[in-house]
Amino acid sequence: MGSPLASLSTAQTALVLTAFFAGLTVVSTALGFALERALPQRRIFAVPLFEGQHRFELLGNAIFLAVTVTTLTAVSRADVIAFGPPSLLRDALTFQAMLVSFQVYYWFLHRAMHTRALVRIHRWHHRSQVTTPLTGQSMSAGEALGWMGAYAGLPWALSHVAPLGFRGLVAYLAFNVFGNIVGHANAEPTAPIAASRAATWFANAFVYHALHHARWTGHYSFQAAFMDRVMGTEWNDWPALYARIAAGHPLTSLKERGDTP
Ligand SMILES: [Zn+2]
Ligand SMILES: [Zn+2]
Repeated sequence: MGSPLASLSTAQTALVLTAFFAGLTVVSTALGFALERALPQRRIFAVPLFEGQHRFELLGNAIFLAVTVTTLTAVSRADVIAFGPPSLLRDALTFQAMLVSFQVYYWFLHRAMHTRALVRIHRWHHRSQVTTPLTGQSMSAGEALGWMGAYAGLPWALSHVAPLGFRGLVAYLAFNVFGNIVGHANAEPTAPIAASRAATWFANAFVYHALHHARWTGHYSFQAAFMDRVMGTEWNDWPALYARIAAGHPLTSLKERGDTP
């Protein structure tokens, strides 16, 4: 069975995808900034943004959205991802398979972009040393193409194992966009229990990726710490910095270090 979008024309597909991704971006960005405003006592870095950072990041978002809509329109028109008959189980398994495979894929993509050969395409995202909700999708076209390996390539590959659930895939992509944008907010909403070592196998505290922007050479995972733990690229002082932020003391320098256990 093909994609439910397969009956649409190219222009209609592009329009639907633009509405979906741009709409999600606007709503998630608004929520991310609302989170920063709601939690001034949970600020991660008390370090100023660079001059014109929001404008620069907006341009990066426009590039990301253009690459996303163009790629997914082409993939949708080519109708190369196999979808099965709608079922809740199929949707749930699709969501779960995307959740895990994205994190494995992203660790390797991200680690590769920190090699001398590929760092050029990743510098745009790292121009933001202190992050904002607009940082998540602020990237070069080259890096955005790497993300398309996940947004389009993973579903294509997974659909060779079993036909995917369309709604499960749509739900995962919405979750991914939302998490990426809100997860770059310069505020730490995570409760202490959810920032424990056990919980971060599944979901990271916000300070986790904020430290990657400040320090560069570790924490290549985004959503959860498990790939960094498996690959040995986790910093062991982040829980101490989390505790500092949760106690109302933001980090005042990008170089700040925490006590290690
Ligand atoms: Zn980032
Ligand atoms: Zn990076």
